Amino acid sequence: SGGQKQLLNLASILVMQPELLILDEPTAQLDPIAAADFIATLRRLCSDLSITIIMAEHRLEDVVPLCDKLLVMDKGQLIANGKPSEVISELKERPDILCGMPAAARLYAELSGSGSCPLTVREGRDFIEKGYNNTTRGLPQALYEHSDSAAMEFSDVFFRYSREGKDILDGLSFTVYEKEIFCILGGNGSGKTTALSAAAGLLKPYSGRIKVFGKRLKDYKNRSLYRECLAMLPQDVQTVFLKSTVRQELDECHADISELPYDISHLMDKHPYDLSGGEQQLTALAKVLASKPKLLLLDEPTKGLDAGAKLNIIGVLRKLKEKGVTVVIVTHDVEFAAVCADRCAMFFGGRIVSTGAPNEFFSRNSFYTTAVSRMTRGYYDNAVTIDDAVKLCSLNGRKEKPCS
Ligand code: ADP
Repeated sequence: SGGQKQLLNLASILVMQPELLILDEPTAQLDPIAAADFIATLRRLCSDLSITIIMAEHRLEDVVPLCDKLLVMDKGQLIANGKPSEVISELKERPDILCGMPAAARLYAELSGSGSCPLTVREGRDFIEKGYNNTTRGLPQALYEHSDSAAMEFSDVFFRYSREGKDILDGLSFTVYEKEIFCILGGNGSGKTTALSAAAGLLKPYSGRIKVFGKRLKDYKNRSLYRECLAMLPQDVQTVFLKSTVRQELDECHADISELPYDISHLMDKHPYDLSGGEQQLTALAKVLASKPKLLLLDEPTKGLDAGAKLNIIGVLRKLKEKGVTVVIVTHDVEFAAVCADRCAMFFGGRIVSTGAPNEFFSRNSFYTTAVSRMTRGYYDNAVTIDDAVKLCSLNGRKEKPCS
């Protein structure tokens, strides 16, 4: 699995007995459980073997509480440097950077908390318990109602890569309805990408039925599936780029940037490989949207993106939904799914084992859930995003005399 590969990489470096280890986004490819294991290993290397670790990361929930020193860079400059809780307090005027910090710290900043800034889920729980009244447990939930028409249906689908291999899709059945944003979550190697590739007609199941807008995949003749119907953006978006400028890329597929729900006109003369991760994602998406898909499949669209770029992607997906596009996303980014999905699904052992609207879905899960859900459990019901937690704390009001 991805997590095992990353531990193997680490082991191969450790045989050289380094005193200093430099890691570049080591958890970007890992699911939440594998990432937590990897970070726990780093903690032991530091405490048991006294190895100094310098790590560049976007995924900060588990990393910031672990580090002795946090350095924040912006446009080539170091803008903060110190103990994590102090650095976060200094960044109060930088919501673009704060939005990537651990949930407890964001909650503290949003509520203008006083005292030392909480970093971990446990410290966040203390902050809520000691600072707020917590008599109102839940927010009124608008019931999510999906359309009656299915955009994509899997019925009892089986797929394996080789005759002797095991079934990777093992009786997979689920339905995505028109105009919804549907996020599929699950561990590394559970078969999510395989399911997406089967939906796009790139892999052929040996049994079962896949329908797109009510029509079986095999009935879409002469590539009609890919004309104004379905498009897929692969995990590694660089594989989509073939030319030396963004303009050439877009000309090649007759993409009209004036029709995009976002602006990339300032990138036109750049080489696609010189763009930031977020810009590459938006440029590749522009290419894919040129075929005017009604159903868009995205594989890990937030991989390696900072918090600002993620917010940008969320805005774009919402605009696409308003235009009537159905979006199916494979991701292990639980915070992203909690904010942008209409429904989430848990993929395990080649099939989908549960689905639900984010508030209900993440409140039910113990491991595959957001930091806010873990932080508020027992005090509030169904709070899964920072917005939920901020609203509930504000609604409940501060305790007159906070408990110490
Ligand atoms: P996920 O997207 O959930 O991480 P994948 O769909 O990529 O999982 O992979 C599911 C399983 O299929 C893994 O065990 C992986 O090793 C295997 N697999 C993926 N691609 C291939 C391939 N081209 N040939 C053989 N096995 C593959």
